[in-house]
Order: sequence, then C-alpha cells, then structure tokens
Amino acid sequence: MLTGAPLSRFRKNLLAWFAEFQRDLPWRRTRDPYRIWLSEIMLQQTRVAAAIPYYERFLQRFPTVEALAAAPQEDVLRLWSGLGYYSRARNLQKAAQQIVALHGGVFPSEPEQALALPGIGAYTAAAILSIAFQKKHAVLDGNVARVIARLDAVRGDLRANGTWPKLQRSADHLLAEQSPGDWNQAMMELGATLCTPRSPQCLLCPVSEFCEARKHGLADSIPEKRRKRSTVEITLASLVLVDPRGNTLLLAPPKSAGKSAAADDIHTLVSRMWHFPTVSVHQGNAGAEAQLRKFSEESSILGRKSRAKLLPLKKLRHAVTYRSITLLPFKVEVQTLPRIPSTKAFPLTGLTSLAISNLTRKVARAALASP
Ligand code: SF4
Repeated sequence: MLTGAPLSRFRKNLLAWFAEFQRDLPWRRTRDPYRIWLSEIMLQQTRVAAAIPYYERFLQRFPTVEALAAAPQEDVLRLWSGLGYYSRARNLQKAAQQIVALHGGVFPSEPEQALALPGIGAYTAAAILSIAFQKKHAVLDGNVARVIARLDAVRGDLRANGTWPKLQRSADHLLAEQSPGDWNQAMMELGATLCTPRSPQCLLCPVSEFCEARKHGLADSIPEKRRKRSTVEITLASLVLVDPRGNTLLLAPPKSAGKSAAADDIHTLVSRMWHFPTVSVHQGNAGAEAQLRKFSEESSILGRKSRAKLLPLKKLRHAVTYRSITLLPFKVEVQTLPRIPSTKAFPLTGLTSLAISNLTRKVARAALASP
C-alpha cells in the first residue's frame, strides 16, 4: 500500500492528468447536486455517449428537483424511454418527492440522509457528496475497482466476499482529501479511458510507475473474468390489433410494483409499461398463434371463438439482461377495438410519444412496416 512521498506523487500525477485530459461532459460543468445525481443514475448501465442526449432532454423538461417531483410519472418514463432499467427513473422521481418533502428541495449533503433516498446506494451517495459538496467519500464502482485491483495486483473475483470491502479500503486510503470530487472523477476517468477492461493503455497511464499488475505483466489478466449467468431463451407472442382509424390496443402497466422471479414474466420484460397483449410461448413457435388466441379470447381482447385472422409479422429478436427473446408479433384487423378495463386505444403511429419499452417499440415498428 502506498504511503508517504510515493502516495503524494501518485495523487499529484493522477490529478494533473485528469486536469489536462478529462473528457468535456455536460455534468462536469456543474456542481449542482441535482444534475450530478441525474448523471450518476443515468450512467448506471448506460454508456456516456448514449446518456448525454437523454440527460440534456431530461433537464430541459425537469430543470429542478421540484419540477421532477411534481411531474406525472408517465412524463418521466417517456423521457427515459429507450434508456432501459426504468426502475432508475421511478426511484429518481420518488427520491425527488422525498427531497421536496423532507429537505426543502435540496439534495441532502449528509450520507445517512442521502442513503435513505430510493435508488441511492453507497457508490451513488459517495459520488454525489464528493463532487457536489466536496465530502471525503471515495467511490468504488466497476471502473475504480479494476484500477485498484491492477494497482495492487488483486487476484480473483472482485465482487467476491471480502474482496470488495478490501478494495473500498484501498479506495478510501488513496483518496486525495483536498479535492475528493476531482479525485473520484479522476479514478473513474482512468478506468473508463486508459485502464479499460481489455487492452489497458499502460504506456499512457499517469500512474504506471505505481502499478503492480503492469510490473508483473498481469494487466490483461486482472480482474479475472466473472462467470456470466447463462442465457435463457424465451419466446413471446404479441397481438397488434388495428382498427380502421389506425388505432391499436395496449394493456396498462400493472398497479403493484411487485416483481416476479420468473424469467418470462411479461410485466418485467415490458419494463412495467404500456404494452401489447403478450404471452410467453411454451410449446414451440408452432403453438404461438393458438396460445395468443386463447389468451386474447380469455381476456376478452378477441371475441370467444373469434374467426379474426392473425397475420404473422416479421420475427424479432430482443435481449433483456440474461434473457434472449424471440418475439413473434401477430397483427389482426378489427372493426372496433374492445373496451375492457386496464386497456387503452392509442394511434399505432404515435406510440413513440408514449412511455413504452424497447420491446414494445420493436413490435410497433414491425406492425407499421407490414402491408
Ligand atoms: Fe491500469 Fe496499466 Fe495504469 Fe496499471 S499501468 S493502472 S494496468 S493503465
């Protein structure tokens, strides 16, 4: 573990490199905790380049915590639509409401209060508090963990019991307490741009002289690859009803926030948003039409013993975390859409302005592309 003069030099080198080479990102031009918080939530599971336009649109519509807290959830989800992992958006709004109710609309600067907000874990709290309030908390995310593991030549699975807390202790020890916000961003930037998962660019690295992995030729083999959860194949069949005015029928998101553990839970797969009538197909693709028809008749979407012709559309592929999904959409033309609870008619061409999942969006596109 670095101490004394080498530790000072390590911090100086990294901070100087960050000052000169950091990427110009919109959330780096502000100390506003709301903006930093939003960026940290968007960057969980989303690449920087993909997050930027969402970040800017979101702030145009919700420039303050109060505006976000007061908005209809549908509007928040619509602006998140396409980013995926919608629980992030729901928690963001719930936290904004708590901040308005309990903290006068200002993101709390104390860790206990920050950690009590929905969607804020140890990493996010440390990032916001250090960058916005210069609090002395070291962040540890995947990028920082990889950098530290290489610096200290830590072997094995970094998320294993015991290893992650050890990495957090190292991150705490390295933290430059005079500038914790810049320090944390510098560590993350190093992991994101030079000390990357594959082919780290050690020749350009500002702290290579301190790196044990580099010294021992281990940079490429640390961290060890984690065993991936094996892929689960799922087949879904969706029904796109279209009336003569081009309207279609969508089912409402479920009222309860409960999560099903089943890999093919439809509400999970459509991100708990408006969606086409959809079933999980269990007896091979050949049975898809019959199973979809049975479901649609039982839920009064189609009349009993309906003779409506289900036209198969182009087969689609979609992936949600470990699930590999084959989507079999069917279109059916009807004179009138059924009026049943928990459903609503929407113009098929206007679905993009709704809060819908990417899976539902793909089905809509396939229906629009069909003759
Ligand atoms: Fe990462 Fe290479 Fe720098 Fe070590 S020398 S911290 S492996 S980029």
